[in-house]
Amino acid sequence: MVNNWLKIIQRNLIPPRCVLCGDTGFADLDLCAGCLGDLPRNLCCCYRCGEPFASELALPSLCGRCLKRSPQFDETYAPICTVTRCRI
Ligand SMILES: [Zn+2]
Ligand SMILES: [Zn+2]
Repeated sequence: MVNNWLKIIQRNLIPPRCVLCGDTGFADLDLCAGCLGDLPRNLCCCYRCGEPFASELALPSLCGRCLKRSPQFDETYAPICTVTRCRI
């Protein structure tokens, strides 16, 4: 309840603005719908480290680096791909 009021107050006092182009935010995000749609999704990646794969795989997989030496964490959530080489 309090959280809902805070959201309403915040939305009216500081409406969401796209951090990339300055347009009105979409769905309470600081991104507009256009910029959100343009962001490259990291849909096919190593589930442990988030390294993008060059080709799509059917099952959740590990990259060669994680297979060789497992990192100290179990899983990574990296929804946006910031590496250009994943767009092959
Ligand atoms: Zn934008
Ligand atoms: Zn990995």
